Amino acid sequence: MVVLVSIGLWRTAGHETDDRIAVVTRPKRVMGTTCALAAIVRYRERTRAEDALSRAEAGLRTVEARMSVWLADSEVSRLNAAGAGEEIPLSPECLAVLRAAREAAGRTGGAFDVTCGPLVELWRRAGEAGVVPAESQRSDARAASNWDLLELTDRGAIKRADGVRVDLGGIAKGSGIDEAAAALCDAGMVGGMVVVGGDLACFGEQAQGRDWPVDVKDPFGSGRIAELRVRAGAVATSGNYARYVEVAGKRYSHIIDPRVGRPAEGAQSVTVVAPSALTADVWATALSVLGPEGLGRLPSHVDALMIVGSKDDHQILCTPGFRALLAEPIPAGLTVWEEGTGRPQGRVAF
Ligand code: AMP
Ligand code: MG
Repeated sequence: MVVLVSIGLWRTAGHETDDRIAVVTRPKRVMGTTCALAAIVRYRERTRAEDALSRAEAGLRTVEARMSVWLADSEVSRLNAAGAGEEIPLSPECLAVLRAAREAAGRTGGAFDVTCGPLVELWRRAGEAGVVPAESQRSDARAASNWDLLELTDRGAIKRADGVRVDLGGIAKGSGIDEAAAALCDAGMVGGMVVVGGDLACFGEQAQGRDWPVDVKDPFGSGRIAELRVRAGAVATSGNYARYVEVAGKRYSHIIDPRVGRPAEGAQSVTVVAPSALTADVWATALSVLGPEGLGRLPSHVDALMIVGSKDDHQILCTPGFRALLAEPIPAGLTVWEEGTGRPQGRVAF
């Protein structure tokens, strides 16, 4: 969803020493998806960019190694495999993400819930078997998906039931992107961008001093539905169109509505702009569950665009702050949600 090509093609020869150039890498897949990193650096300091980029990539891979449910020896997998009552030590970084996730569960009225591992697994198996889970299976998985069954301590976490399983798939990517962007910033890059799958964070200046262009993909086609201009901050997209399971001819989202134990039907696609990638990631997933009603729950400095309905009959909604970031042409039929009310018209915080 992101335009990195424009910065990837700049010449690296014939520059004045103070010119800004972009150094771009596209490391092999991370967190099950594609990845690109860009560092903006003064020409005379360009050798530092390579080092900064490899540190940023290492940051991403460290987050994946800690938080992926697909890696058997990740911290999260060890917690999931553990029995009830035992304190499982976790790194401060993993604990911080779990605390942020617990807070998000409160703010989203339970729509974002990383304890929904049993439900995610139930519906994944349903997709593989091509059979909708029975009501009793759904209620069992729902009962096991609950923050009351997981205690966070100063050093780790304690499960209150054997079946508790955490899934950080809706937040870990954002956390990794933040880590990687922080590594570029700490290394003194004048600007940078980290893109993993459809999510990204950017800071500082593009080499040509403009805002970063970011495409919002059309969930019903192959092109883009809108273009954003982001100065600094993060953008995350969640949607049915990218990942889903198909059971008996019906498409089900990979995002679960933990409140009812069924795949979410709140929106086809949600793009969120926020000060951090973690926040953007959380709210993109949460709004996919909540639908338009969730726009009213967004914290200040978090803005969203969502597409609700079907290919032939859909609505595009966004918050006033998101509208302010859109480049021309504005999508036809865009409805700016809550315009003219008392809600703060938040732009991305720098
Ligand atoms: P994303 O692509 O960021 O929207 O994250 C989707 C992933 O988050 C899913 O593949 C699950 O691993 C996990 N997940 C699904 N439903 C939820 C939910 N309601 N709250 C938190 N995580 C979820
Ligand atoms: Mg997410």
